[in-house]
Amino acid sequence: MTSWPIEGGCTCRAVRYAMTSAPLVVHCCHCRWCQRETGASFALNAMIESDRVNVIAGAPVLVDTPSASGKGQRIARCPQCHVAVWSHYAGGGTAVSFVRVGTLDQPDALPPDIHIFTSSKQPWVVLPPGAPAVPEYYERDLYWPPESLARRVAMRAKLGLPPA
Ligand SMILES: [Zn+2]
Ligand SMILES: [Zn+2]
Repeated sequence: MTSWPIEGGCTCRAVRYAMTSAPLVVHCCHCRWCQRETGASFALNAMIESDRVNVIAGAPVLVDTPSASGKGQRIARCPQCHVAVWSHYAGGGTAVSFVRVGTLDQPDALPPDIHIFTSSKQPWVVLPPGAPAVPEYYERDLYWPPESLARRVAMRAKLGLPPA
């Protein structure tokens, strides 16, 4: 079992952060946009409330970047080495962070909960049998554990938003 917080950061170590709890969900995204942005075959993103990610060194800069939705995303990058540590998407805005699991000191701690956009998965990537996987996106209520759904409702309440 992982004990929280766990830390991570960029390659030059100017930016360091701590995740203070387990994420809401971990997405392994096989979309073409993630393939391009990582230069690899998929992105591994831990979705978490931003107030559970504490910056402990440096100050990531938010870089406006196009996204598949057309609404754009803001990628938090180290101002020195420019490694991306997390993203904010239009849906949750800056209240939700998609932490790049590969920047954690112990990335093995957060395997994916679900594979998304497998319709564009590179064919050599073979998913473990039984791993939750969807061709594009998914319905949150069908895949998130009740604790994560409750945390999302609490987060939205804090922002003054309705539960849906
Ligand atoms: Zn850096
Ligand atoms: Zn993606």
